Amino acid sequence: MKLLFAAAEIFPYAKTGGLSDVAQALPATLVKRADIVSVMPLYDFIDREKFALTAMNESFQITLGKDIFEISLFEGMNRGVRTLFVYEALLCNCMTPYGDQNGDNPNNDLRFGIFSKAVVVLSQMFEIDVLHLNDWHTALAALWAKEILPKLHVVFTIHNLAFQGLFPRGSVERLGLREDYFTPEGIEFWGRMNCMKAGIAYSDVVTTVSPTYAKEILLPEFGCGLEGFLQLHSAKLHGILNGIDTALFDPLTDPALPKNYGPGKVAGKKSNKRLFCEAHGLKGANKALIVFIGRFTEQKGLDIIIEALPKLLNMECNLAILGEGSETMSKALSKAAGNHDNLLVRSGYDESLSHQMYAAADFLLMPSRFEPCGLNQLIALRYGAIPIVTNVGGLHDTIGDIDEVNSSVCGQGIVLHTLSGKMIIQSVKRALQLFALTRHFSKIAKTNMTCDVSFEESAKAYLELYRKT
Ligand code: ADP
Repeated sequence: MKLLFAAAEIFPYAKTGGLSDVAQALPATLVKRADIVSVMPLYDFIDREKFALTAMNESFQITLGKDIFEISLFEGMNRGVRTLFVYEALLCNCMTPYGDQNGDNPNNDLRFGIFSKAVVVLSQMFEIDVLHLNDWHTALAALWAKEILPKLHVVFTIHNLAFQGLFPRGSVERLGLREDYFTPEGIEFWGRMNCMKAGIAYSDVVTTVSPTYAKEILLPEFGCGLEGFLQLHSAKLHGILNGIDTALFDPLTDPALPKNYGPGKVAGKKSNKRLFCEAHGLKGANKALIVFIGRFTEQKGLDIIIEALPKLLNMECNLAILGEGSETMSKALSKAAGNHDNLLVRSGYDESLSHQMYAAADFLLMPSRFEPCGLNQLIALRYGAIPIVTNVGGLHDTIGDIDEVNSSVCGQGIVLHTLSGKMIIQSVKRALQLFALTRHFSKIAKTNMTCDVSFEESAKAYLELYRKT
């Protein structure tokens, strides 16, 4: 069985969030058991010199609507996985994969149409049996695969239903799609073209990244308008929990950390915290350190953290926030940081700093409104930072409350059953009480560090699905 795994971002070449981590870690686990090749765009911000043109030295053309696009194929190895890179000028001419501070790239329909069509051509070229697509950027490949390679088996994974790839009706013609796809059963969505719908409708199997999210997206509260459509296709919908690359996220060997540590030698964690606080001007390294790492969006509950901030900052703790996104949230945080010496705010994307924060933290605050799986809480477990989470999606499937015995999940943390400023304050109070019980706190953190957060079990579930298709 030959697999092709397609994603718009794969770590370390491009990363805007969890998709990138998963698109590296899952194939890296599968490669031990299956013949797998990955593919992503070779964006201009990636150093092209590092990659060879494929041994086959292939370049090919694809047609979308009235236009012909020249594709060149490069390749490299990523954690044991042969990785193909698709280069086409319009697709790759960007500084970040999807857009910038001014909004989405206006050519995203065409850009990811080009990528999706190229993926189908590559499936033919490499005699692929199972094509695994990820999120809307690759979803149109499911539709074209049905037309061009009807024997190809297609698995489509939804990493976040909130991002559907919505475009004006004119995109149908622009991409050369047949008009009869533009129906409610196909890719039409309230008068617009919806790429995500193509992935759901035309794949043989649809997966999402946790069992709970697989159930939630069938409900209006979490379905982002596609709950009815997903219900129609629910017989082929599966929830498989994500994992993390435990070699990359390993406090014992992580090169970003001033001091390496692990469940057998936790003393190093304290040094990381002390050094982090000193380096960033946070006073009192003996106080609990709570971190937030992630996109500044309502999804992550950051607006509610900001609401609770005045009270949080009056508590006996330090708070460190790293992320990017909403300008308004960023400004509110910076303003608060200017007035409080127990709040550190870093705007932007910084991989090393994020690792140092997980290592320094006593707690990770992650009060998401919805969370398809969430990787931060898994990384936090591995780095001995106790997660404070809401009870949704993958957070529900991975973190149980320390006071409610739940043997079905591995990680222990503090669970908010509803999301409000009041609940965040209450949960942080609970966290600080736990922190004061030094031994109990260390025991939980240590046990969390030994949780299996790898991709091993999930990779087996994916293999099983590939075989079934
Ligand atoms: P998302 O919904 O954004 O995909 P996930 O929890 O699935 O969230 O994954 C987020 C990943 O991105 C984690 O590896 C997290 O550490 C990382 N991350 C998020 N924001 C930043 C940032 N500003 N700097 C560095 N890493 C970040």
